[in-house]
Order: sequence, then structure tokens, then C-alpha cells
Amino acid sequence: MTEPALPAAFGFLASARPGGGRVPDAVFATRGSHTRVDTALPDQSLIATLVHAPGIAPDAAQARDTDTAVLLAGEFYNRAALHSVLPPGSEPDGDAQLLLQLLHRYGLHAFRLINGRFAAMVSTGRRVLLATDHAGSVPLYTRVAPGEVSASTEAKTLAAQRDPRGFPLADARRVPGLTGVYQAPAGSVTEIDLDSGTATIHRTWTPQLGRRIMPEDEATAAVRAALDQAVAARVAPGDTPLVVLSGGIDSSGVAACAHRAAGSLDTVSMGTDTSDEFAQARAVVDHLGTRHREITIPSADLLAQLPYAVWASESVDPDIIEYLLPLVALYRALDGSGRRILTGYGADIPLAGMHREDRLPNLDTAVVYDMATFDGLNEMSPVLSALSGHWSTHPYWDRDVLDLLVSLEAGLKRRHGRDKWVLRAALADALPEETITRPKLGVHEGSGTTSSFSRLLIEHGVAEPAVKEVKRLVVRELFDLTVGGGRHPSEVSTAEVVRSAAERFARGAA
Ligand code: ATP
Ligand code: MG
Ligand code: MG
Ligand code: MG
Repeated sequence: MTEPALPAAFGFLASARPGGGRVPDAVFATRGSHTRVDTALPDQSLIATLVHAPGIAPDAAQARDTDTAVLLAGEFYNRAALHSVLPPGSEPDGDAQLLLQLLHRYGLHAFRLINGRFAAMVSTGRRVLLATDHAGSVPLYTRVAPGEVSASTEAKTLAAQRDPRGFPLADARRVPGLTGVYQAPAGSVTEIDLDSGTATIHRTWTPQLGRRIMPEDEATAAVRAALDQAVAARVAPGDTPLVVLSGGIDSSGVAACAHRAAGSLDTVSMGTDTSDEFAQARAVVDHLGTRHREITIPSADLLAQLPYAVWASESVDPDIIEYLLPLVALYRALDGSGRRILTGYGADIPLAGMHREDRLPNLDTAVVYDMATFDGLNEMSPVLSALSGHWSTHPYWDRDVLDLLVSLEAGLKRRHGRDKWVLRAALADALPEETITRPKLGVHEGSGTTSSFSRLLIEHGVAEPAVKEVKRLVVRELFDLTVGGGRHPSEVSTAEVVRSAAERFARGAA
């Protein structure tokens, strides 16, 4: 099995109807070539635009047989295991074909078997299946009416279409301001009857609530093995991966595993004129011997890119946007052709890395809460990097790594006075001592993003206690302009939106 350097498709806009139809031109935030797909099945037609890396035909992103057609954005990480349950002699060529064969054997339960980063649309008989990976890490949106199901990996492409009008979809999240558009839940298959437009949601994954007690050495060995495997599955043979590296334990751990898996590694760190973690990243670079680059982005330029962060993530959560903005700015600064990028994103959620005290009850409360509320925030969206043509993937949210980390008892996460103890101990032989013991520092803190965004608001006359609320208004207005309104982020001025949000807040508060 050879693994491609990039997935066959990064995203799609698709429509299924009993008769034919056509897919309107789509404007994706994802950068890439567009390929049209037009599949006539006996009982329905599936037409789509796939967005994919230029120069790579997206053949492996689509598959069909007599009665079923599959579209896939993203990739699978447990291919060998998936192949092993197929009849001998079946040689699926690419992940969409693999999925098609699994669907024949297991029906929609096939999605329970897959460890991946993907969104999929399946047309079969008079039904449409919309599936997300366990984490919903590739966002998937839909608009459903009797006789038509539209689906897209970017809500903005559905906003641009007025049809179909859209039925309510029970148990799915409405997209703010976009009538009739819903986001498919993480870890689920939405099964839609094409004739009636009625839907049933089947959960295919849920965060564990039970906790495992393990001896220290067993827990650290299990974490190391799971992370090594998840990183290796995300490294393509012959390709040098790129790790976005802060010098914190999470990304440094990924860098150590990736260097081992690939034999060579590129790393990149971003900082601003107000703060950076360059020295801490450099310690890891020197230890591993990576080819490294530092990118400094002035805070004013960083804030000017807020419209891009909202456009790419399609998130309305201001805290999440502060985490994502420095990364979006970093990805945008990476020139050249599409790279496979690994991040240390998401480790703090199952490990409660933000928990800065020794008592354990609150730690597990934080884990349960965060695991119950991540869906729809779009923190892991591939569009963040795909807007400059790069494919990003997050080993800590690999299904096996995540299941393990979530399930460990709280005393293994906070231990010997350290946050994320089990991860630090698991990586002790692979990284410098200073990296292993370095306290957590959020990307929004290390880059000064939170404080420079606050300062911008205060310069526009926002009072200190109102900063949080005005940030929420700013992000929502950026969302309405770039996602709902179809404005390109290059035409949207952060300063103007801040001015208007500050004024609206002042009027409302007066
Ligand atoms: P820790 O959580 O212990 O600080 P970390 O810095 O690796 O470890 P986060 O701060 O949670 O993790 O940041 C999330 C991810 O974003 C990182 O793992 C890394 O991949 C990326 N990242 C964060 N800051 C930077 C930066 N300054 N330059 C490049 N990548 C970064
Ligand atoms: Mg591999
Ligand atoms: Mg982290
Ligand atoms: Mg950090």
C-alpha cells in the first residue's frame, strides 16, 4: 500500500437528486483545482465539484458501482486494518474505493471502523449518507429538501446557493444566519431519504466516559506507542513532513515522532513583533536536527488577517478564532506547493492542559465538558491550511490516541506537580529536558494574539470589561460578511468591522 503525499481531495460541493442537475460554480476558501463529477445511478444522480491539489487527479476521492457512488474529502489512517476485513483478492485503489467495499460488507456501520480525517457523501438506492470522522475534523454542511440533498465541506458554498430551501434537520446544528443549512455532527452518519427529505442520525463514535487506572510505566508506554503510530500513519513514504512547532510539549512530541518516522523533518515557527517562542522551538530543532524556519508577522498584519481566519474556519467562537488566527497567518506565509503539515493541536483537550492546579476533580470536569462541546467549533478544519494549498493533520486527535488520552484517570494527567504528565513522561527520551518540563503556553498567548486583539478594541474606545463581548460581535460580523455574504476576506477590513462592532455595542449598552 502506498500512501499519497496529499489526499486525493480536500473538499467538495455536491448535490444528489432523483433526476439530473448541475452543480453551480463554487467559491471555496480551499485553494486548489476543481474537478466536476457527474454520476448517474439507477435511482439518483450525484453531481459534484471536488477541490483538490493541482496536478493530482482526484480519482481516489470517488468511487462507484452499479447502485452506489462515494465522494470523499480527506484520508484514512488505519488502511491496513480496513483492508484486512475485506474478502481476499479485493484490491481497492484509494480510500473512496476502500470505503465503497466496506459499505458493501457493513452498510453504514462501515463508518464505525474508520480512523481518519474525512467527510464523505454516499448516494445509494434512494438514500444519501453524509458521514464525518469521529472528531468531525473535516466540517460537513448540508441543505436538505424532498428530492434534493446538497452537501459541502464549506458552508459558504451552500450559502451562495438559494436552493433547495432546506428542511429542518433534527439533532444537527444550524449554521448561524444561513437558513436551512446544518452542520453534520462529529462522529455520525446522517442517513437521508431522498424522496421525503427526512433524516436519521446514527452516531459512530462518542467520547469515552469511563476512566482507566494504569501503572505509570504502562500508561507512558501506551501513550508513546499510540502517538508514534498516529504520526507514522500521517507521514507519506518519501515525503518530508512539515511540523508547525512552538517548542511546547505537544508539537515537540509530534516533531520527535515525525522525525523518527520520516527520517527527516522540516519545522516552522511563527512569532510576532510583540512575542514569540523562537528560543524554545530552537532547543527542539537543535536536538532533533530539523530544517527550520522562523516567520515573524507584525501584530497589525496578524489582526488584519482576522477575516481569513473566520472565512477558513467558519467558526463564530471568538476564543477559537484567537487560537486559529496565528496558525492561519503562518499557513498563509508558507509559499510553494502543497505540503503535508502535522500539528500538536488538540492535546490539551483530553489531557486538560489548561488545568493549572493539583486538585483532580475539576480536571476531569474540564475534560468531560470540552469533549462534549468541541463539535462545531471547527478547530481542526483542514481549510485553515488548505486556503494556501496545504494539508494539515492532527495526531493527538487520531481516534486511537484520543480514545486513550481521554480514558486515562485524571491522576495520570496531572501528576508530580506537572500538567500533561503522562505525555511528558512518554516523550522523556526523545526531547531535551527543558522541553519536557516547559509549562504549557497557549498559541494565543505565545504569539500575543489575545492581547493585541484586546488592544485594538481598546484603541477603538471599547472599555476593558466589554472587550470579550465586542470580540464576539466582531467575529460574528466577519462570519456574516465572509461566510454568509460571500465577501472575499481580502475585501474585508478588520478595522472597519471593529469600528462598527464597537459602535453597535456602545449603542446597545447606552
Ligand atoms: P503546549 O500546549 O504545552 O503549549 P504546544 O505549544 O505544542 O504545547 P499549543 O500551545 O496548544 O501546543 O498550540 C497548538 C499547536 O499549534 C501546537 O502544538 C503547534 O503545532 C501549533 N503552534 C502553536 N504555536 C505555534 C507557533 N508559535 N509557531 C508554530 N506553530 C505553533
Ligand atoms: Mg506511513
Ligand atoms: Mg497544546
Ligand atoms: Mg503552546
